[in-house]
Amino acid sequence: MPAKVNEETCTGCESCVSSCPVEAISMVNEKAVVSDECIDCGACVDECPLEAIAME
Ligand code: SF4
Repeated sequence: MPAKVNEETCTGCESCVSSCPVEAISMVNEKAVVSDECIDCGACVDECPLEAIAME
């Protein structure tokens, strides 16, 4: 399962985007969106200052 973004918590700060080694995170309407390219590494989970990303 790809990493999951809590859209209510995400502020669109973009901190996670550069943390992803496979460029699976993009911003859509100022929220982070994880694509199917995600390899479940968890790097973005550690990067988010608001803990808005979790692995399922
Ligand atoms: Fe990218 Fe890893 Fe986060 Fe998946 S878990 S979106 S591969 S940083």
